[in-house]
Amino acid sequence: MLKDELIRIIKEAGFDEYREISSADIIFSEAVFAECAKNTCGNYGKNHACPPKSGSMEENRARFLKYDNGLLISKLVTMKGEIEEMMESFKEMGESLNKLREATEDMPVMVAGPGGCNVCPECSAKNDEPCRFPDKTRYSMEGSGMDIMTMSMKQKMTYNDGKGGLGYFFMVMY
Ligand code: SF4
Repeated sequence: MLKDELIRIIKEAGFDEYREISSADIIFSEAVFAECAKNTCGNYGKNHACPPKSGSMEENRARFLKYDNGLLISKLVTMKGEIEEMMESFKEMGESLNKLREATEDMPVMVAGPGGCNVCPECSAKNDEPCRFPDKTRYSMEGSGMDIMTMSMKQKMTYNDGKGGLGYFFMVMY
């Protein structure tokens, strides 16, 4: 069964928590798009997976809601202590995501995570050119308008463990 296989992959990739959700549990919010428009991350208008180039709220919703189910996944990243410890923690998070992407490459699923698409060294959106690999675009959860904080709280997942660990969230739609 696809779900069982995905859960096995999630565990093997070293993620900390996951929840089985229905696509109806995904919370989209215009307020998230408004935050993106402040361009704190520098991806606004510079990445096809981020607003406004990722499309309207309805287009973003439709991209996820064409799947019935999802797995909301998190990895706790250490934000305190020595810089080396934090860097190592971020590295582990990236390795878990790479393992997840590699293992699900040929499956009928969509993986989304934080940040813009990073398939190309530099997104063609920066030059106002079309996406080079529209079938491979890695959509961002925030950039798709998802209210991750509210979703994680509703699912009783760890957003901030109070000890310096922050949850980074990912999603597999299937
Ligand atoms: S595949 Fe390349 S061009 Fe397309 S969104 Fe990703 S980084 Fe940008």
